[in-house]
Amino acid sequence: MEQYKELLTQAKAAMAYAYTPYSNFNVGAAVLTKSGKVYTGCNIENAAYGATNCAERTALFKAVSEGEKEISAIAVVSSSGEFTYPCGICRQVISEFMKEGNLIFENNEGEIKVIPLSDIYPYSFTKENLISD
Ligand SMILES: [Zn+2]
Repeated sequence: MEQYKELLTQAKAAMAYAYTPYSNFNVGAAVLTKSGKVYTGCNIENAAYGATNCAERTALFKAVSEGEKEISAIAVVSSSGEFTYPCGICRQVISEFMKEGNLIFENNEGEIKVIPLSDIYPYSFTKENLISD
């Protein structure tokens, strides 16, 4: 749990860099790789809304772009004060790089939730689905 609290602290720090002139909904994320490194990310909005990128994918893409393809945990926090869960696109992207692991969330009351990927995103589409005989 101590490692998860540290991951949440880093997610909160990353939230400060959120670029959200349209929604003012700031999100921070921090991924823990299997090798023990941490990569953080924030949401980055765009005037063309579809070009917006979520904090979870920002953090994940930073990790993968530096050679880290196995994630063991991801922490997510937001400025809403409520538990903030990943969108469907992020759940799919997380499942690509986290075969098993936990998602960690914290609200403004300091309550922490730890949810296994298999609970938050069951029946995910994987590369095994692409293999055909
Ligand atoms: Zn997302």
